[in-house]
Amino acid sequence: MGRLRELLRSRTLGLAVSIVLLTMSVLFAADFMDLRGANSSEREVRSTIAESLAVQLSTLASVSDTAAIKFSVANFVKRSEGVLAAALVTARGETLAEYGDLAEFGDTEASSSAGLVRVPIMQGPQRWGEVRVVFDTSRNMLSELAYFGFVLVGSFVAFLLFLRKALAQLDPSQVVPGRVNSAFNLLSEGVVILDDQLRIVLANESVGIALDKPVKDLIGQSLDDWDWDGGDELQAPWTTALHSGLNVSNQAMHLRTDDERTHIFMVSCAAVGNEEDGMRGVMVTLDDMTAIEHKNHELATTLRQLRRSQESIARKNKELEALATQDPLTGLANRRSLLAFLDRAYAEACRESAPLSCVMVDIDHFKRINDTHGHGAGDEIICAVANVLAAGCRDQDIVGRYGGEEFVIVLPELDETDATVVAERLRLAIENLARDIMVPVDELSASFGVAALGADTRDMMDILECADQALYAAKQSGRNRVLAYDPKVTKLAAPAQPEQPAEEDAAGSTARLVELEAMVKERNRDLEMLREHHALTGIPKRALFLQRVETEIQRAHRFNTKVGVLSVEIKDLGRIVATFGHAAADALVVDVIAQLEDSLRQTDVVAEITEHHSISHITSNEYGALLTDLDRETHAMPVITRLRRGLAKPFVVDGQKVYVGANIGVALLSPDADSAVELLSGAGVARSKAALDPDKISHSFSSSALDKASREYVALETDLYDAFENGQFQVHYQPQIDLAERKVVGMEALLRWAHPEHGFVPPLEFISIAEANGMIHDLSKFVLTECIGQLQRWRAMGWEDLQMSLNISPLQLRETSIVNDILLAIDQAGVPRDRIEVELTEGTLIDSPQRARIVLGQLRDAGVSVAMDDFGTGYSSLALLADLPLDTVKIDRSFVIGMEDNARSRAIVESVINMAHALRLRVVAEGVETNEVLAMLTGLGCHQAQGFLISRPAAADDILAFLTTQQRLSAGESR
Ligand code: C2E
Ligand code: MG
Ligand code: MG
Repeated sequence: MGRLRELLRSRTLGLAVSIVLLTMSVLFAADFMDLRGANSSEREVRSTIAESLAVQLSTLASVSDTAAIKFSVANFVKRSEGVLAAALVTARGETLAEYGDLAEFGDTEASSSAGLVRVPIMQGPQRWGEVRVVFDTSRNMLSELAYFGFVLVGSFVAFLLFLRKALAQLDPSQVVPGRVNSAFNLLSEGVVILDDQLRIVLANESVGIALDKPVKDLIGQSLDDWDWDGGDELQAPWTTALHSGLNVSNQAMHLRTDDERTHIFMVSCAAVGNEEDGMRGVMVTLDDMTAIEHKNHELATTLRQLRRSQESIARKNKELEALATQDPLTGLANRRSLLAFLDRAYAEACRESAPLSCVMVDIDHFKRINDTHGHGAGDEIICAVANVLAAGCRDQDIVGRYGGEEFVIVLPELDETDATVVAERLRLAIENLARDIMVPVDELSASFGVAALGADTRDMMDILECADQALYAAKQSGRNRVLAYDPKVTKLAAPAQPEQPAEEDAAGSTARLVELEAMVKERNRDLEMLREHHALTGIPKRALFLQRVETEIQRAHRFNTKVGVLSVEIKDLGRIVATFGHAAADALVVDVIAQLEDSLRQTDVVAEITEHHSISHITSNEYGALLTDLDRETHAMPVITRLRRGLAKPFVVDGQKVYVGANIGVALLSPDADSAVELLSGAGVARSKAALDPDKISHSFSSSALDKASREYVALETDLYDAFENGQFQVHYQPQIDLAERKVVGMEALLRWAHPEHGFVPPLEFISIAEANGMIHDLSKFVLTECIGQLQRWRAMGWEDLQMSLNISPLQLRETSIVNDILLAIDQAGVPRDRIEVELTEGTLIDSPQRARIVLGQLRDAGVSVAMDDFGTGYSSLALLADLPLDTVKIDRSFVIGMEDNARSRAIVESVINMAHALRLRVVAEGVETNEVLAMLTGLGCHQAQGFLISRPAAADDILAFLTTQQRLSAGESR
């Protein structure tokens, strides 16, 4: 049954049925057209039978034997097979004899039908009657049916057998034996056989599976009709194979299927046939690489990501390594890695008995550069010098920043003589930096100390010590020079530890190993720590901060400066979180830190704030900051006031103004706290003390003396801010007289602060504060306009020859607009320029001679007089005096006061006057308090004098009275 169903479903059966139906149609058509002739012969037989009856009956009728006629008719019907009825009917329609019922078989009057045959009987020319015979036609039909049935069944069986045989010949799949076919289908690769028209004649199941289509649907298709990507541009490989007969292997092709998926096939083609008979077709294998390609793609993507993350890890490691080993400003080795290198180089040199040298470099007058040009310029110079040193050394050398403006160069394989040559070359290169305008100063130099491995050196620290001694000697002997270590001049300090006996060498090296291992561990730990930056603000954490503080402490010891640590806590963070939420509070913390950094970063004459995150995150709500290069402890105070002012500004949280509170603790380097940890904890304790203060922003110093001083300072500084707004500043004037003519020739403008509680605050007390907080610029402008305006008024009253002297702060020298500002003020007031004199203290001129020379030169060229104030206090050389563009020298009052009793002061005053004469400078003596001094100065040839004897500095009105009196007196004298 199953086989039959299968057979019925098969194409062969369909074909057989079609052909049988076709055949039957043809047969019916032939039959219809009576091409067989079966119908006519049948009709003839029937006619003959009927006619024989008619002959017999016509004879009997002629004798009118009716009985015989009836008998003959009946007999005829009974005898004749296939005759149903017969009758003799006269022309008049009278039935003479009838057997069987003719009417039963149809219309006897009709001419003739399939079964009725009518034969006429003639009497002469007249029709006498006719014989009617009805034949049985049903028997004929049955035989016809049997015939067609036979043809139908017979041809069906015959065609079915034939087709199966024939199709087996035509269907290539059937050609393939069943077992081979199933093996073919087992292939995971898709295989397609194309005929010479490149139509598919065979495909295995793998192709069907790949394309998700029944294989039979693919038969007859052309591979070219499939939706190949880029198939239009290139000749298909099967076409190539068919036309060229060459095999094509593993060509990657992309096929888009009906479901919009893209398959990647590795296509190989082999032509089927041979050269003589031509190509019959192509065998194509389609290796579906889609899944593999996807996997490959995923793998490649993963690999790329992996490589990227590896690169970023390597980069991060490098950055961390750099952070741990490099100086952030110069990129040179930092102190730690420098010492590690020196340690290795020293061990190697000892092992191989090779020379090793060490050069210590220090930029000359660096503090002055910083003070004059600002820390930005100082940094630029450090970087420029670092570049020169690095460029001038070999690859195997190492240049490191030892601290501040000090560098160390380690030169393996070089002895002292060679190292001195290298150092000399570097010294000249640094000198040329300023000459080539590579740095923002006119003059730049460095001192070099050279030391080499020798009998005096017991370990690497000794070489450093020797180089340091040599550097010290170089600085002492006038700077800008290279000096090699001379054991005769400086002896190394006795070793702190007794030397290890030789027998202990082995134990010593084990100990060294342990020590080195500990160092490695420590370094790794540090690296770990360095990885940790405060996630919210990005600032470094405690470990890095302590490391920096430690480095600065070492430096401070060397240069005899101070280091300070601040500990800052933001108040009421809990309340802010409760009000605004965590995100807003976090944003506020970031803003506060930025404000702290901003306050610390402002150029400061008294303290340097280390670059690169001077603010560090210590604990959850504690931030640390480092102050360096404090000359005096009190120099930390302006920093505190600046911080306080920065924090007192409102912050914006969620669009609302919020005033934050802060507690600030300060600890300065002292014998009680001389390590980073101690300083930080001291600052922490001070901060806790500050927290007891109910003020919104409060601070405290760890030292109680400083704490008290700082409170006064902060109070004064706050008052100073208000004073300017409230007009508490005035300019007083002190007359200067010409000793030869005995008349008032000039005035010195001196700033006064009339404090509502403390009375007049001396300028020396508040000017340093104003310099530290930047107010000095506003104050100087005030004095400038005020005194020039006053001079103009006095001039208008008739004192046209008066000259006005005004003091210039060293900070003003840094301003690029200073010359223009002064000239503009003079010109706007309509005062001749030569009636104005600017005074700069000797200290300022010594500290920044280049800048002073430029500013003073420009002023002088414009017609303004220039004076050197407080001469004698700064130990400036004669050469400097001759070199600077000056008109006047003012002898400091410390020499003038009491010169009548003090021979030394007298000698100094005398020599300054003589020197001024020689240099054609006007000389003014300050602090003339007695007539004796006045007389002595006159005797020594001093040009002018100024002092309490003549007049104390006084307000303009009092001076007007003084001038009037003087005028009256001199008028009286002249009368
Ligand atoms: P200075 O420029 O040397 O001014 C002279 C100082 O000597 C004044 O002190 C003056 O009062 C004082 N003096 C004058 N004659 C005598 C005397 O016979 N005996 C004594 N013992 N002192 C005398 P003052 O006004 O306290 O100013 C101190 C310093 O403050 C000034 O020294 C000057 O360096 C600075 N200074 C004053 N006003 C200004 C200013 O407007 N700008 C700047 N940058 N500095 C100023
Ligand atoms: Mg002065
Ligand atoms: Mg003076």
